[in-house]
Amino acid sequence: MSRRDLLAYLRDYGWRDVAAEPPARRPAAAPAASSMSAGATTGAPAAGADPLAAADLAAMGAALRDCRRCRLCQGRTQVVFGVGAPRARVMFVGEGPGADEDRLGEPFVGRAGGLLNSMLRAIDLAREDVYIANVVKCRPPGNRDPEPDEAAACLPFLWRQIEMIDPVVIVTLGRIAASHLIGTTAPISSYRGRWMKARGRAVLPTFHPAYLLRSPSAKAQAWSDLKLVRRALAAAAAS
Ligand code: URA
Repeated sequence: MSRRDLLAYLRDYGWRDVAAEPPARRPAAAPAASSMSAGATTGAPAAGADPLAAADLAAMGAALRDCRRCRLCQGRTQVVFGVGAPRARVMFVGEGPGADEDRLGEPFVGRAGGLLNSMLRAIDLAREDVYIANVVKCRPPGNRDPEPDEAAACLPFLWRQIEMIDPVVIVTLGRIAASHLIGTTAPISSYRGRWMKARGRAVLPTFHPAYLLRSPSAKAQAWSDLKLVRRALAAAAAS
């Protein structure tokens, strides 16, 4: 870890007494897009249309707005579709919206989202550079884990989002996202930080930011995972 990386990391993770120059920001790869307008080109809402047949992310989000495919629709305020650059080189996948995300309609906007933003900054990425989504798009009551049938109902839409965005790498955040994308039930500590493949795509599992908030000592491992992502993006850009 270079001195600059270390200082940026410590500052971003809350050590306010660390004086460091701000990390360089890479220019945004594509304009930021809000939850329902991500990738907007068609714009026209299409409630009731087949989301998997949608021409772009915006149309797919619109087609899912009134989704009632699983019981999570009963407790949600709104569907939290995803946010970010429609052609992002890196996509982050969490497990499902919490209370803040359900209220605001955007993934990772609560405390865990604040930490995710810091993690992105630590590898010179802004939230607008990446795409962020979840395994399930509606809030599980009481923030419980999504049930297998709820995840199964929602996963085709996540895979379609991945196809449309076509990222260089996917970073799964926490055990639930890894288990559904990679199909493993092993403890996350046994495979985090190791490149995996899912449907031919490079997937790097790391810890969920909410876990890192509870277990700050795991941030060192998360940092080494993030550096793998940065290295993979640099290699892809150079090739
Ligand atoms: N945790 C998640 O897994 N996803 C969110 O969007 C917020 C918190």
